[in-house]
Order: sequence, then structure tokens, then C-alpha cells
Amino acid sequence: MRIVFIGPPGAGKGTQCKRLTTELQIPHISTGEMLRATKDDSALGKMVADYIDSGRLAPDYLVMRIVTKRLEAADCVSGCLFDGFPRTVNQAQLLTEHLKNQGQQLDLVLDLRVDQEALVDRLMKRALTEDRADDTSETIEARLRIFFSQTAPVLEYYRSMGVVHAIDGMQSTDQVYASIQDAIGTLD
Ligand code: AMP
Repeated sequence: MRIVFIGPPGAGKGTQCKRLTTELQIPHISTGEMLRATKDDSALGKMVADYIDSGRLAPDYLVMRIVTKRLEAADCVSGCLFDGFPRTVNQAQLLTEHLKNQGQQLDLVLDLRVDQEALVDRLMKRALTEDRADDTSETIEARLRIFFSQTAPVLEYYRSMGVVHAIDGMQSTDQVYASIQDAIGTLD
């Protein structure tokens, strides 16, 4: 099973994916985590850090290279959870093409919806508990803006494929998880 999680920063994608990866026994592919892991003193590492720390999206070619390499691993054969990817329509189209070449496709795209004020609140709280350089008020604003301008159109792209299921992300973590399980249940 291949599931894409789409939602603004702070919507709870990571939290839900962590739980679901254990239940479904398929890997959790977080491009944010993979990109953070490439931050180092090399020229590439510095370039990636610059994108992440300013809240801008890393270039599609770089993200696609990281994702397609990850998908070659044996543990992705029976599926995976995409968290924070695709974030542009171009990434979504390239993913469709890549999966098609492998004789695969997405089963479900979860549209995790959360009110904007709640997002800022959650991200400011996360800044206190997790050491993420991009959880600052300016960067949060930039990331939200980028979500609505560049990532929200990805939902339109997937809607035309008929795979989108909306989830009310304002519910409790357990209720959100139950809604996700329901959405997966409709696939059987
Ligand atoms: P996240 O952990 O998903 O919030 O991602 C943190 C940061 O990594 C984002 O603000 C972007 O700078 C970068 N990033 C993560 N995923 C992508 C992606 N699919 N495309 C471009 N940049 C990304």
C-alpha cells in the first residue's frame, strides 16, 4: 500500500505516519527527515541547510533523487508512507511516472486539514520541544505560505486521479488516527 500524507507544517503528518508505519509494517519516508540528515559541511549539505532553515522548498531534482533512491530499497516493495512529499505538482507528476515505470501506483492521498491559527500554535510549541532550526516565527510564516501556493495544488492534481480522502486534523491525535484507519478501510 502506498499512501501520501499532505498537510501544512504542523498538521500532524509525522505523528500519524510514525504510528501507521508500525501498524502497516511499511516504511515511513519523510523527505524533511532525509533532507535534514544531509545537512553537513559539504557544499550540498550547506545548500540543503539553506533551503530548510529559510523554509523554502529544496529543488525538485534533489528531492526526487533522494526519494527514488530510497524506493529502490527492499523494504519498499510492499509499499510506503510518503510524509511531506510530493510538495510540488512537478514532484507529484514525477512520482506518478516513477511508480508507473515500476508497475506501481498510489492507493490513497490523505488531505490532513487543520485551521491556520492552530498550526502556528502547534509549530511554536514544537519549537520549544524539538530542536528544529526552521520552527521560528518568520520561517513558519514562509512555510505556510509555500504550502498554500505550491503544495495545495498537488491536492488538485490528485483529486483528478480520484485518490484523495480528507481528514479533519483538528480532532485529537487518536481520532485523527481512527479517521485514517477508516480511510484505509475503504480501500479493501
Ligand atoms: P518537513 O520536515 O516535512 O516539515 O520538511 C522540512 C523542510 O525540508 C521543508 O520546509 C523544506 O525546506 C524541505 N523539504 C521537505 N520535503 C520537501 C519536498 N518534498 N520538497 C522540497 N523541499 C522539502
